[in-house]
Amino acid sequence: MEVLKQRILQEGVVLSDQVLKLDALLNHQVDPGLTMEMGREFARRFEGAGVTRIVTVESSGIPAAFATAVEMNVPLVFARRKKTLLADPDAYCERVPSFTKGIVTDIMLSRDFISAEDKVLFIDDIIANGDAARGLIKIIQRSGAELVGLGVVVEKSFQPGARAIREQGVRLEPLVRIKSLSGGTIEFED
Ligand code: 5GP
Repeated sequence: MEVLKQRILQEGVVLSDQVLKLDALLNHQVDPGLTMEMGREFARRFEGAGVTRIVTVESSGIPAAFATAVEMNVPLVFARRKKTLLADPDAYCERVPSFTKGIVTDIMLSRDFISAEDKVLFIDDIIANGDAARGLIKIIQRSGAELVGLGVVVEKSFQPGARAIREQGVRLEPLVRIKSLSGGTIEFED
C-alpha cells in the first residue's frame, strides 16, 4: 500500500534497530481517512472468504480492525488485556509477552462473541516476534472457529513473528513489510 509507505516514511520515528514509533498514525493518533483505506484494502484481499467476524487485540489493532469490519459489514470483537489474574470461566484467556512494554499480559475474549460457526479474520497493527498474534490465534483455535487469515498493517520482516505464523499455515497479509530499521533508516521490502 504505497500511500501507507509514504506516511510511514514521513511520520515514523526509528527508535532503534528493532522499534519504529508510529504514534502519529497507528499507536496514538488515528487518521480516519488513511485507516478506512487500510480497511478497504484488507476487505479487498479477503473478499469472498466468507468472513463472519473480525477480531483484534486492544488497543492499537482496533482502528484498522474497525475499518475492515465496516467494509465487510461484520461485527468486530477485540480481545481485552486483563489486569486481573483471576480465572474467568466465561472467557478464553492466553498469557502473552508484550514486545514494547517488556511485561507479560493476559488477553481474554468472551465465549459469547466467538463460536465454532465463525470464519474469523484477525487484524492487527504490527507484527514483530508474533507473541500477541500467537496468543489470539490460540484463542481462535480453542473456540473452534475457522481462522481465515491475519491482516497486519505493518510486518517487520526482519523479526521472526510473521514467518513463524506463516509456517503454521496461517494466511498472513501485511499492508507494508519493513525489512530493516538499521542506521535509523526505514527500508521496505519491494
Ligand atoms: P509481537 O508480539 O509481534 O512481538 O509485538 C506485537 C505488538 O507489539 C504490536 O501489536 C505492537 O503494538 C507492538 N510493537 C511491536 N513492534 C513495534 C514497533 O516497532 N513499534 C511499535 N510502535 N509497536 C510495536
